[in-house]
Amino acid sequence: MRVVITGAAGFLGSHLSERFLRDGHEVIGVDNFVTGSPANVESFADHDGFRVIESDVSASIPVDVKVDGVLHFASPASPIDYYELPIETLKVGSYGTHNALELARLNGARFFMASTSEVYGDPTEHPQRESYWGNVSSVGPRSVYDEAKRYAEAATMAYHRHHKLDTRIVRIFNTYGPRMRPHDGRVVTNFIVQALTGEPLSLYGDGSQTRSFCYVDDEIEGIYQLFMRGDAQPMNIGNPDEFTVRQLAEIVLELTGSSSPLAFQPLPTDDPKVRRPDITRARTMLGWEPQVPVREGIARTIEYFRSLLAAPRLGAKVGTRTMQFPSVGSGS
Ligand code: NAD
Ligand code: UDP
Repeated sequence: MRVVITGAAGFLGSHLSERFLRDGHEVIGVDNFVTGSPANVESFADHDGFRVIESDVSASIPVDVKVDGVLHFASPASPIDYYELPIETLKVGSYGTHNALELARLNGARFFMASTSEVYGDPTEHPQRESYWGNVSSVGPRSVYDEAKRYAEAATMAYHRHHKLDTRIVRIFNTYGPRMRPHDGRVVTNFIVQALTGEPLSLYGDGSQTRSFCYVDDEIEGIYQLFMRGDAQPMNIGNPDEFTVRQLAEIVLELTGSSSPLAFQPLPTDDPKVRRPDITRARTMLGWEPQVPVREGIARTIEYFRSLLAAPRLGAKVGTRTMQFPSVGSGS
């Protein structure tokens, strides 16, 4: 197959590109490097089956060869990124999704939408099944991301129903691992980099909110299997092992051997209090479930950041980024 992967120079897009190449497929990556980097595809940039085109997919996806699949992964994904890039995030979820859907339609190709557990918002059902409609603010600071992804899901289903397009929707739950940026701002990278550099761990709220963290290799395998063997209904792909953010901080401190203190900061507005996927559908349809326990995945990620910090990429930002915005209840 020849597939287009938007966002191929990002964390997940680069791993997914490699997964397709490993099975002998051809990959055309399209990325504008707004949150990704050519360094993420450096190790396979010379592969005969791979090339990357620089383009803002909200404007156009300049691919003029026949393709069999279009996988839409382009979008800022870290909360700090989509706070800083609100309009770009809305555009890539709307215009970008339409451009990717049209490319798939014109080629009679399979379309794959990278959606998110954020479509469930601050969930009132726990764990979250795909049938849950969610609890999402349409005006809060997270809405630029959450509503763009919900819109993208609606657009995907409309193309499926109206144009009979072969489509997939994955709802990705918090995924971590090598190739995340040190200054990405998400919790796993912040805690690991802070622990390794002796900085205080930035804990938002009292740390009792939960997330379920999936190691990247597991997530990519689930996504790949869904693309190859799934159906059009949304599917959760994530690790159902649930941890409080405070527990995560303790695991990182233990595995790094760091004595960094905890520094409590305000909880961001609309931060979901719990999140855990019900993966019954993935288990039943794909026979997929995560293989890498959190402690092992975190240990591998620590090793990645240890070597990155020892030899930073030329020009790379190595510090962490933490939220600098109003806390709960400000309404702004
Ligand atoms: P990332 O920021 O590392 O990668 C996103 C990539 O998209 C980057 O390379 C960026 O440059 C590119 N991009 C963004 N806007 C673009 C545009 N307009 N045109 C072209 N390229 C553009 O983030 P990630 O964690 O790899 O996330 C990838 C996808 O998976 C996103 O769609 C995200 O919403 C989804 N997702 C990720 C997670 C996670 O835990 N990592 C969870 C849920 C959903
Ligand atoms: N978080 C934290 N400290 C950080 C970054 C995040 O305590 O430095 C918390 C955040 O408030 C949320 C959880 O960790 O409850 C996961 O945040 P992340 O930004 O990784 O992803 P989210 O699940 O919110 O999209």
